[in-house]
Formats: sequence, structure tokens, C-alpha cells
Amino acid sequence: CGIVGIVGHSPVAPLIVDALKRLEYRGYDSAGVATLDHGDLARRRAEGKLVNLERRLASEPLGGTIGIGHTRWATHGVPNETNAHPHFAENVAIVHNGIIENFAELRDELSSEGFVFTSQTDTEVVAHLIARELRQGKAPQEAAFNALKRLRGAFALAIMFRGDEDMIIGARNGPPLAVGHGEGEMYLGSDAIALAPFTDSITYLEDGDWVIVRRGGMQIFDMDGQPVERACQKSIGTS
Ligand code: GLU
Repeated sequence: CGIVGIVGHSPVAPLIVDALKRLEYRGYDSAGVATLDHGDLARRRAEGKLVNLERRLASEPLGGTIGIGHTRWATHGVPNETNAHPHFAENVAIVHNGIIENFAELRDELSSEGFVFTSQTDTEVVAHLIARELRQGKAPQEAAFNALKRLRGAFALAIMFRGDEDMIIGARNGPPLAVGHGEGEMYLGSDAIALAPFTDSITYLEDGDWVIVRRGGMQIFDMDGQPVERACQKSIGTS
């Protein structure tokens, strides 16, 4: 029930776990983190408390200066490691809060085209939708945008791509999602509390917004693909 993303300079996995801890109050049943480690998608996931994920990371550390993390409150698929986020499909990694209402229809469509599902979650359809767009030669931004247009339901999403160490795409339709502005680093998080260790400069996405986050800054778009401006606020009393 929480999302964190960091496009940073130092190894991000421990930072992501620290930020996820600040979202524990929302409740969760499993957790995970994915990074681009030496350019490749890598992840650690664990059922139960964040301490289990920390143990996993201690025995098998994740490198990488870009990453996404998640605490899950299962809605589709039992709480276990296989259903824990991040979910991968080909060159795509994704974390999701909320429910994709039309996931069954999308899963049937993708399965009939040969896409193989490895979890019972509604979330995994989003990863495969984007992977399909990439296969068709779309750039990551366009692939994500085209996939978002197919989704019905409530979501906050963070998406990372193998081959792009300087981009996380976020999207919001329901559950909150905020961008944090750092010094040559940028963040995504479910709320300002999660991002308080890093920054107090926060831009909240509005419903229907999606955002491209890079180390050098961010650009928010609406569901017509038009750039939109959202105010940057100083969060107070959260650190
Ligand atoms: N519906 C997704 C799942 O069951 C996301 C749940 C959440 O918001 O954590 O995996």
C-alpha cells in the first residue's frame, strides 16, 4: 500500500526500504524493491514485514542508483513472494497500488497473444501491456502512455525500464502519488512523509496525471498527453 521510487546517485535499495518504513502505517502484507543493477533489472521481495525484505537484501544486496519499491496490501492473489511487487515483464518493472478493474479482460487478451503470467495479481497486466508496446518499437514514454489509456480502475504506478538508468514513470488515478525534488536526484512516493528524509519540495500528481521523472527534473502530462503544470509545495511537519 505504498510506493517509492528514486533516481539517485548512491545505492538506492537501502534508501527505498527506509522510505517504505515510513509508509508502514498504511498496512501491508509483503514488500519488494527493484533496481537497475549494472544495467539489468534485479529485485528482492519478501512476504510479511519489511524486516524480512531487509534480511533478504542483507544476504543478497542490490546495487544500482535507480529503483522502485512497494509495500503490498493484496487485493488480487494471495500475499506471497510471487505476488509481491515489483512485477517484471521483459524490459519493464512496475509497482502498483490500487485495483485494475479490467485486468481479467486484459489478461485474456495478452495471454491469447502468448504473454505468460507469473503472478495472480491484477498488476501484472500493466507490465505486459507496456512490454507489448515496447516490442512494437515504441519508446518507453509512449509505451507507458498507451498502456495507461487501456486501464480502468484505481492506481498509483511507478515504472522503470531496463536500458534507461535515468527515468521512472509515475501515474496516478485514485491513490496518491507525489514527486519529490532533490539536488540532482528525484523521487516518487505515496506521500510527503515517505520522502521527508530526502526532500521537503513536493509536487502532488492529480488524478489522470502521469509523470516522467529524471535526475535533472520532471515533466507531468495529462491523459491527452499534454504537458501540465502542478504546483511545487514545501511540505511541513513531516520530517
Ligand atoms: N492490486 C494489487 C495487488 O493485489 C496492488 C495492491 C496494493 O495496493 O498494494 O497486488
